Amino acid sequence: MKQKDKELIFATNQKKEFILLTLQIENFVSESKIKEGFCLINSLHATGAIIINENEEGLKEDILNSLTKLFPDDINYKHNIHDNNASAHIASILLGQNQTLIIRNGRLQRGTWQDIFFLELDGPRQGRKVLLKIIGD
Ligand code: ZN
Repeated sequence: MKQKDKELIFATNQKKEFILLTLQIENFVSESKIKEGFCLINSLHATGAIIINENEEGLKEDILNSLTKLFPDDINYKHNIHDNNASAHIASILLGQNQTLIIRNGRLQRGTWQDIFFLELDGPRQGRKVLLKIIGD
């Protein structure tokens, strides 16, 4: 059993924003030389999420608009006394802060319309970190 680790560090520019990670993750899988196993993609943030979905501009806008409706900012949250981002924390919990994908025949297994994103929920931010870990043979 082998394992490989990588840290992705990046800045975000918007309050809510999709950061496409697919290419970097696929390159890491390829460099790892691991043929069969798993790749864990884990955000280190309480106001971001790791999501897998279609990379289409209209849909991404629809998702951001839906999140704003589902998790409105203008509610009298207790946490907002501290840093005014309770809705981002709640969305992060429900969307999830990690994903695990299968590696088979040396390739990350994902569907045609499945891209991997870090979803910023409380940007803009410097130093966002996503850890990748591959375990396999
Ligand atoms: Zn907060």
